[in-house]
Amino acid sequence: MPRFPVVASIALLSLLRAVPGPAAPAPKALSPDLRDFYVDLHRNPELSLHEEKTAAKVAARLRQAGFEVTTGVGGTGVVGVLKNGSGPTVMLRTELDALPVEEKTGLPYASTVRVKDDAGTEVPVMHACGHDVHMTALVGTAAEMARRKADWHGTLVFIGQPAEERIRGARAMLKDGLFTRFPKPDFVVALHDTPNLPAGQVGVTSGYALASSDSVDLTIYGKGGHGASPQTTVDPIVIAARTVLALQTIVSREKDPQDPAVVTVGSIHGGNKHNIIPDEVKLQITVRAYKKEVREHVLAAIERIAKAEALAAGAPKEPAFAVVESCPATYNDPKLTARIAATLRRTLGDANVVDVPPQMASEDFSEYGLAGVPAVQWSLGAGDPAKLKELAAAGKQPPSLHSSLFAPDRDPTIATGVEAEVAVLMDLLGKP
Ligand code: ZN
Ligand code: ZN
Repeated sequence: MPRFPVVASIALLSLLRAVPGPAAPAPKALSPDLRDFYVDLHRNPELSLHEEKTAAKVAARLRQAGFEVTTGVGGTGVVGVLKNGSGPTVMLRTELDALPVEEKTGLPYASTVRVKDDAGTEVPVMHACGHDVHMTALVGTAAEMARRKADWHGTLVFIGQPAEERIRGARAMLKDGLFTRFPKPDFVVALHDTPNLPAGQVGVTSGYALASSDSVDLTIYGKGGHGASPQTTVDPIVIAARTVLALQTIVSREKDPQDPAVVTVGSIHGGNKHNIIPDEVKLQITVRAYKKEVREHVLAAIERIAKAEALAAGAPKEPAFAVVESCPATYNDPKLTARIAATLRRTLGDANVVDVPPQMASEDFSEYGLAGVPAVQWSLGAGDPAKLKELAAAGKQPPSLHSSLFAPDRDPTIATGVEAEVAVLMDLLGKP
């Protein structure tokens, strides 16, 4: 793909910004080249841990921009390094994966992809979290930073991370030497699109921005038998029912109300017929929190309450408790957040940078900060401004991330993504 249109359009953007006067809304042109790149990614999404073709596309663009590229890092991960003299090292991250969602946006470039998932079930696939937006912004930013090499010094590390949706790609890349085989960054940055802000705007959150997430499998054991002879059994369904209610007291009774947490029992399965008391009941629980000590307390309380309810009912054995998937809370370094927010305000205008409250959703971007590097992820508005206004007037919300109807306002969202990333990197690496 020719790089010229990207360069031309961004050169034009800088020219427009150089015109003195009040802050104008960010120009929203997107080069046909980047648009094509996005549409191709959007039409061809790949599930977590299977991002081979997607990774190859990102790797090719980084090579084209002059980055030294390594593939297969932590699975399908891509690492591109562009050295440009002495100075700080800054890492920019995009995710590579899509979701098992059937796209219903009706867009001409909607995904119709269906694949077998890891369990062998045929599933639809869609970029319902907008990771295709992030990848396109990153390759646009790569080309622009390469073109403007005379204006900055230091080292860029651009990564394509697999399996964010399964909260394991960041850990896999770190384990595979992301911070040892490649230059260790002084700063790590990323953006994530949001349908709740209009395209052209960005959002920042200082400190805790996203919660930790733990998936818990809990199996409660009883003693099965005839539904008409409960005296011969220990009914695990009754134990499970008591347990589900008792778990609700962890958040309401056991922790400081100023420290948010969530305990949700998302799945409960036991038995298969009216008149049979089963041997066991299986529960799937999600736990969210910000602080490490709150998270640890909630997990320990779930295990304690489950054991106590089983003991109270005279169950034949203790419940099985296992945390099967987890990631820590995302903490945006306050000092770096303030610096990035100031840069974004200068670039996009004060009115286009808003404070976003923390959310209980989760993201494995948290791992990079925990590995000891100041890290910030900011939000990129992806909503059609007119549609958002209409919805707000009607008291409605736009389709959320992971929805089959999520459709970013393509051109202005990606253009703003590139503009914001270039501005932040130039600030962190620019010549004094
Ligand atoms: Zn997602
Ligand atoms: Zn996402």
